[in-house]
Amino acid sequence: MDNASQSPAGLETSEPALRCQILIIGGGAGGISVAASLKRRRPELDIALVEPSERHFYQPGWTLVGAGVMSSAATERQEAGLIPKGVRWLKTAASAFLPETNRVRLADGRVVVYDYLVACPGLKLDWAKIEGLTQTLGRNGVCSNYSFETAPYTHECVKTFSGGTAVFTQPPMPIKCAGAPQKALYLTADYLRRHNRLAGANLEFCLAGDVLFGVPFFVPPLQKKVDEYGIKLNFKHNLIAVDGASKKATFAVVDKDGKSTEKTIAFDMLHVVPPQAPIDAVRDSALVNAAGWIDVDPGTLRHTRFANIFGIGDALGTTNAKTAAAVRMQVPVVTANLLALLEGKSLPKTYDGYGACPLTVAYGKIVLAEFLYGGKVAPSFPFDPRVPSRFAWFLKTTIMPLLYWHQMLNGYELDIGHHEKQFLA
Ligand SMILES: Cc1cc2nc3c(=O)[nH]c(=O)nc-3n(C[C@H](O)[C@H](O)[C@H](O)COP(=O)(O)OP(=O)(O)OC[C@H]3O[C@@H](n4cnc5c(N)ncnc54)[C@H](O)[C@@H]3O)c2cc1C
Repeated sequence: MDNASQSPAGLETSEPALRCQILIIGGGAGGISVAASLKRRRPELDIALVEPSERHFYQPGWTLVGAGVMSSAATERQEAGLIPKGVRWLKTAASAFLPETNRVRLADGRVVVYDYLVACPGLKLDWAKIEGLTQTLGRNGVCSNYSFETAPYTHECVKTFSGGTAVFTQPPMPIKCAGAPQKALYLTADYLRRHNRLAGANLEFCLAGDVLFGVPFFVPPLQKKVDEYGIKLNFKHNLIAVDGASKKATFAVVDKDGKSTEKTIAFDMLHVVPPQAPIDAVRDSALVNAAGWIDVDPGTLRHTRFANIFGIGDALGTTNAKTAAAVRMQVPVVTANLLALLEGKSLPKTYDGYGACPLTVAYGKIVLAEFLYGGKVAPSFPFDPRVPSRFAWFLKTTIMPLLYWHQMLNGYELDIGHHEKQFLA
């Protein structure tokens, strides 16, 4: 990658310009994996990666941090140690996508001109959208597994919960790891049960939507757990405000006629999942669909309008579950298709919408939901995925973190071999 001495067409002369063959936006699960995958296959590629953070997180581990079974330190690495050799790291944010001229403007004022772009900047956690939340998060019994800083406090809250009402929230879809709100719920319930405190607990799950889980096949085993723990389900309850000092949470509640009213619930513990949205630079760009997510072909993951752009991960408008499991299957598709494009060949690989959600229904037990576009069930292992499994817990707590840090982020393909399967009801 060179500092361009001459201004490329369309650039103002005052803008210092950088050039690269492949520009990757975001150094999270998708960005690091695809950079490593491309370099592993074609070391001579000229790749630059834009990522403002010096820290990289294994976010799936935060559910376990909140449950007290993984240390937060185990979910963090320095970004510098993960950038693949030969990839140039631009340690700043992308502030504007200018796909018509193959440029990305950076927050530090520079502009990068690329031949090919892979966009994987994740999504924005919109904590501030809930009135009063940022002032009280991490105190007053208000916790969240959705950040490195706050996940340990979830376990503190559960350990010190001595009866009363514990409320768990789930914002409108789409969110990353749609199962994570209820994972925190079941692990709390199981912890209280094991410590003989479940009987004195009123557990309420407040969901903005009207289903327990988006893939109907997995609802019965989850509903069974809800009933077993005595959890009250409040559908169409969207958290809009938190008053930490007086321990009150306010919800916009939509009734069956579509009428919205406000309802306040007093809590002793509140686990919040923040509303989620495309990052501003994506939302304000020409890359997006009507909802503001990056508009790629669901199979090839190539942009629907800009032929030299691909996307990976949570930023996409595809209907798969926003999970690291999805990223794991998207990366080899983008790598193969981008390399084929470089050689003028047709795109060889298709993503099937695979996503996975290890639903921690108890300590030591997981309902491993694996599915494709359209909610088609596609397990990787030869057991009924509706049955809570100790093996899946071992996978989640021990194997998956190792595979993430050592395989996926190093550009190795990790298709364990899932297959669509029909099950009797
Ligand atoms: C509590 C929780 C539990 C989860 N559990 C699971 C699970 O059990 N299984 C599973 O598969 N997945 C799980 N996930 C989801 C998984 O972590 C994400 O789907 C995955 O990390 C998405 O990868 P990504 O690369 O799209 O985004 P990220 O990994 O979030 O990376 C995005 C990167 O882009 C960077 N960025 C942001 N803005 C810009 C910008 N303007 N310019 C440049 N870079 C930018 C960010 O700093 C970040 O490094 C969970 C997530 C959470 C929060």
